[in-house]
Amino acid sequence: MSKKEKINILIVDDEEDFLKSISKSLEVRDFNVIAVNRGEKAITAARENLIDIALVDLKMPGMNGEETLLALKKENQWMEVVILTGHGTIESALSCKEGGAYSFLQKPCELDILLETLVKAYKTRLMNRKKVDAEKIKEILNIEASPWEILRRLKEIDSE
Ligand SMILES: [Mg+2]
Repeated sequence: MSKKEKINILIVDDEEDFLKSISKSLEVRDFNVIAVNRGEKAITAARENLIDIALVDLKMPGMNGEETLLALKKENQWMEVVILTGHGTIESALSCKEGGAYSFLQKPCELDILLETLVKAYKTRLMNRKKVDAEKIKEILNIEASPWEILRRLKEIDSE
């Protein structure tokens, strides 16, 4: 699969071990992963790459997750941002939602749940950005296929 056909995921987390393991899990499934350990670096990455979905840790030194979310949305309004939280801090979670976060995942998150979230977030991005016919997306989501295959087909519409 060429780089252009892959879904670009930006992962931002100051925990190096988590960053490595999650990046690896997604790379072997054909995502193009850009992993950085600081919010500041995430902004640079978003300027240099067309990111589809960002996974952003809430608690980081320097720019925190919420500040990173706002800056990323400013760079690219169609990017969907999923916030990763270690200890479900409800207040910050709520203000992230107001700041345009797509959803939240508790760390450590199971791969299946992460994947499900990525499918939904990507679908939302596609509908918002391309104003794609909801029927067309529904058709793809109803296919009996792995989530990876579904994401691949959604990506096809995205590059049409
Ligand atoms: Mg952290």
